[in-house]
Amino acid sequence: MSERDADDFASLPLSEALLAGLAALDYQRMTPVQEKSLPPILAGRDVIGQSKTGSGKTAAFGLGLLMRLDAAEFCIQSLILCPTRELANQVSNEIRRLASQVGNVKILTLCGGTPFRHQADSLAHGAHIIVGTPGRIEDHLRKKTLDLDHLAVLVLDEADRMLDMGFQDSLERIVKELPAERQTLLFSATYPAEIQSIATRVMQQPELVRVAATHDAETISQQFFTLPPDADRAAALRLLLTVFKPSSALVFCNTRRDTDEVTASLSGHGFAALALHGDMLQRDRDQTLVRFANGSARILVATDVAARGLDIDSLDAVFNYHIANDAEAHLHRIGRTGRAGSKGSAYSLVGSEDVRKLAIVEELLGQPVTPQPLPPPPQGQTKPPDAVMATILIDAGKKQKIRAGDILGALTGEGGIAGGDVGKIDIFDQRAFVAVRSDAARAALKKLREGKLKGRSHRARLLQGQSDARVGQRGR
Ligand code: ADP
Ligand code: MG
Repeated sequence: MSERDADDFASLPLSEALLAGLAALDYQRMTPVQEKSLPPILAGRDVIGQSKTGSGKTAAFGLGLLMRLDAAEFCIQSLILCPTRELANQVSNEIRRLASQVGNVKILTLCGGTPFRHQADSLAHGAHIIVGTPGRIEDHLRKKTLDLDHLAVLVLDEADRMLDMGFQDSLERIVKELPAERQTLLFSATYPAEIQSIATRVMQQPELVRVAATHDAETISQQFFTLPPDADRAAALRLLLTVFKPSSALVFCNTRRDTDEVTASLSGHGFAALALHGDMLQRDRDQTLVRFANGSARILVATDVAARGLDIDSLDAVFNYHIANDAEAHLHRIGRTGRAGSKGSAYSLVGSEDVRKLAIVEELLGQPVTPQPLPPPPQGQTKPPDAVMATILIDAGKKQKIRAGDILGALTGEGGIAGGDVGKIDIFDQRAFVAVRSDAARAALKKLREGKLKGRSHRARLLQGQSDARVGQRGR
């Protein structure tokens, strides 16, 4: 047998079942945050782990709590708190995948948006691991539908974002209900002072593991463009998008207002763009992400807070409408591209009000940054490429027992569209989204409206522009 490398999972005291799960996932090497945090986590210590989004923090705590889990003891042994339903679902899925070879591990997700009663019934049947949002977990504790007396591990995931969202008091109330003797793990993409302060209150001599967020210049190329005085920033952004033609891009704005204005300007000029900000309702956020991930929108315009924790693969490029206010935010932004070894690009607009912030970037890069003039407009055809796909929303989902195969069947049945024209299908509780090639969208819509799913007709409509997202309220 060959010698084990330090970043080989097999060098850790993990069970055969977990190693088999990792092999099934094709996780060959530990990521840096896993390599640094897993030894103290597996030794039972409290650990604060900080590393950028997408660096594998879920598996770090997931393996830790699965190693401690005794599946024969049918009681709740771990609680993972997450800021949003979307992140809670991502965490549940990852843990389920890590535990695929362990057998009989029951994981429940408890978030708002699902009837309380159903959750209470599921809890009555027992579970080992709970993943949830603070608000709903508190509701269950208050109504005594959740028994955490045997809890061994508490995880605060995306702790910075939970604090940003005002969950601090809720977290502290939940922690008060937990056994004092437990392992507490806290993960965060950033490390502001508030994290330190909550850690001193809920953790015991935590070990701090920080992985510096450096991106190597080979995987992300950064370019800076000077915005002439009085130039139209939105027009400059459109120019960069037209010149560099990313097939998918994230545009970062410093304010919610810019997000709306930039999205409106892009859409008005024929770009397939959608806005994402922190105060969208969860269902609108889900819808926007589905449309971006299935290829119905090429550009997502977001604030830093809204984009935190997004797990989007294969982003071509990141655009900074303004340079971020601090170094950590800048690193996070550009880190969204060039993930998992693929090459990415980051383009930043530098106006007079951004010049001061360039110093931050220079310090990060350890070298001076010289912004270049904006490129000339390309000759000839400059119309932005349309999105390849379009999304149809169907007013029925899991609750109506709709499955992807039903939708595919309805679309491709007699007189329908070709199977190759159908893209990703996402099914939520009460609704489903199907991506179809844009040129087949009308025909697909007609077919769905005239046909039946599970023996019943359902409403279906084509999603266009941002108009479907109601903003201004926050979902819990
Ligand atoms: P974070 O919580 O740090 O933002 P995640 O835990 O969501 O990151 O992981 C990001 C992605 O990396 C996920 O798709 C996950 O499946 C993948 N991943 C995690 N650990 C590994 C690994 N050791 N090898 C390969 N992929 C990994
Ligand atoms: Mg995470």
